[in-house]
Amino acid sequence: MTTPKKNQSTGSTLSTGAPAPSDSHSLTIGPDGPILLHDVHFLEQMAHFNREKVPERQPHAKGSGAFGVFETTEDMSAYTRAALFQKGAATEMLARFSTVAGEQGSPDTWRDVRGFSLKFYTSEGNYDLVGNNTPVFFVRDPMKFPHFIRSQKRLPDSGLRDNHMQWDFWTCNPETAHQVTYLMGERGLPRTWRHMNGYGSHTFLWINDAGEKFWVKYHFHTNQGMQFFTNAEAAEMAGNDADFHRRDLFEAIVHGDYPSWTLSVQIMPYAEAKTYRLNPFDLTKTWPHSDYPLRKVGVMTLNRNPENFFAQIEQAAFSPGNTVPGIGLSPDKMLLGRAFAYNDAQRNRIGTNFHQLPVNRPKAPVNTYMFDGQMAFEHSGKDPVYAPNSEGRGWAGDSGPAADGWEADGEMVRSAYTLRAGDDDFSQAGALVRDVFNDEQRTKLVEQVAGSLLGGVRGEVLERAFQYWKNVDATTGGRIEAKVRERGTSKPAQR
Ligand code: NDP
Repeated sequence: MTTPKKNQSTGSTLSTGAPAPSDSHSLTIGPDGPILLHDVHFLEQMAHFNREKVPERQPHAKGSGAFGVFETTEDMSAYTRAALFQKGAATEMLARFSTVAGEQGSPDTWRDVRGFSLKFYTSEGNYDLVGNNTPVFFVRDPMKFPHFIRSQKRLPDSGLRDNHMQWDFWTCNPETAHQVTYLMGERGLPRTWRHMNGYGSHTFLWINDAGEKFWVKYHFHTNQGMQFFTNAEAAEMAGNDADFHRRDLFEAIVHGDYPSWTLSVQIMPYAEAKTYRLNPFDLTKTWPHSDYPLRKVGVMTLNRNPENFFAQIEQAAFSPGNTVPGIGLSPDKMLLGRAFAYNDAQRNRIGTNFHQLPVNRPKAPVNTYMFDGQMAFEHSGKDPVYAPNSEGRGWAGDSGPAADGWEADGEMVRSAYTLRAGDDDFSQAGALVRDVFNDEQRTKLVEQVAGSLLGGVRGEVLERAFQYWKNVDATTGGRIEAKVRERGTSKPAQR
C-alpha cells in the first residue's frame, strides 16, 4: 500500500486518495440536524469499521511474532537437498508464538501449550514448520481434534472455561497422558516465549540429492535458557499484564536483545520406521534421544519486529502442508489432517487469496493456476489459465512415484494405529515423571494436578482422573488422589 497523500487541511484522504472532508464532523443539515446519506466519507468509515476484524484463529488465537533469519551452520546435504538446510544458507523467516485455548484478548500467562510457528521464505518457496513448545500432542487422529479443542474452550451454556470438561476429554482419551503430563509440569508455564523450546512435533521426511529418504524430528532449543513462571507469578501477571509475552518479545527486539534458538534434528533411516519398537509417526510419542541422538543443523535469530501487527501477524498464514523440495510429510495422521485444515482456515479467516499478501507471499517466483477469487491482486496477465497449454506457460508434469512419497498399501479402514510392542499411552508420560522430573518437580506436578481436579472435576470423571495418573505413575497417581480426597470434595461445577 502506498503512503496516503497528505491533505493540507486535515491530513487524511478517502480510500480513493481524494482529500477527506473531515475526520471529526459528519455532514448534517445545520449543526443539530440529521446526517445526510450522501456523506460518503462517514458511510465508508462506518462500513469499513464494521468489517475491520477477521475471525480469530480457532485455536491459537492469541499470539504475536517477529521476523528473523535461519542460518544453517552444519552440512546436512547427506540427508536433505532442501536449499534452506544447506551449510551456509541464510533464510529470511517469520515466527509466531501463541497460546492454544485462549481467545484474542486472553492472558498470555495462562497454563497452556504454546504454538511455535515458523515460515521460512526459502529460494525454493515457503517452508512452514508449525509446531509447539512440546514435542508431543494430545491426540493422534485428527478426527478428534475439533472435539479436543472444544473441550479446552468454553461451556456451551455459561460460556465459562471448565476443568471438568477438560478432564472428561483427557480421561476419555488416554493417549493424552504424555502431553498432559508435560503441560502440568513447569513447561506449561513458560516465563516468556524467548525462554521456551520449540518442536516440529510431527515426524517429517527428508530427501537428499540421490533421492534417499530419512525420517526427522525437529528440536529448537532456546539459547536464552529455559525459564518458567510459578502458578502464583503467572496468575499475578495475567492480571497485571495480559500481553506480557507479546510485550516481552517486542521490547527485547527493540532493545537489540535478539532471541535465538539452535535447531537440532533426530534422524531415523527410512527403513527403520517399519521395525522401530515404537510407531514413529505417533504424535503422542517422542523418539528417545538414546535411540536417535540430536544433530545440530543451525541457528534461528529473531531480529525484526512487525511494522504492523494486523498485516504481518494476524494475517500471517502458516500451514504444515507447505513444504519445499527435499522435505516431505509423513504418515502421521495428525500431520496429514493439518496439511488440509490450516490453509482452509486461512481461506475462511482472510480470504481466498491470502497467499498473495506480502507477509505470506514467497520470495521465490510463483506460477500458480489458482486463479481469480476475492481480492486477486497478483495475476498472470493474458497467459493461459489452463494446463497443459500451447502458449508457453509452464506447468508441472511429474508422474510415477512421488519424490516425497512413502509406501502406503493396504485396505481402507477406520482404525487406531497398529500398536507395537513398546507402544502404549502411559510409558513415556511415566518416564517423564520418574526419570526426567526431580523430587521437587514431582511434588509440583501433584499440586498442579490436584489443584486442577479440585476446580470442579467431579463424579466418574474424577475417579477416571485418579486412575489416569496411576497409569502414568502409581506413586504420583496415589499422591494426587490422596491430596484431592484430603482437601475435600471437588468444588461443584457452576452449572
Ligand atoms: P532423555 O533423558 O534423553 O531426554 C529427556 C528430555 O526431557 C530432555 O532432553 C529435555 O528435552 C526434556 N525435559 C527435561 N526436563 C523436562 C521437564 N521438566 N518437562 C518436560 N521435559 C523435560 O530421555 P528420553 O529421550 O528417553 O525421553 C524421556 C522423556 O523425556 C520422554 O518420555 C519425554 O516425556 C521427555 N522428552 C523427550 C524428548 C525427546 O525428543 N526424546 C524431548 C522432550 C522431552 P529438551 O532437551 O528437548 O528440553
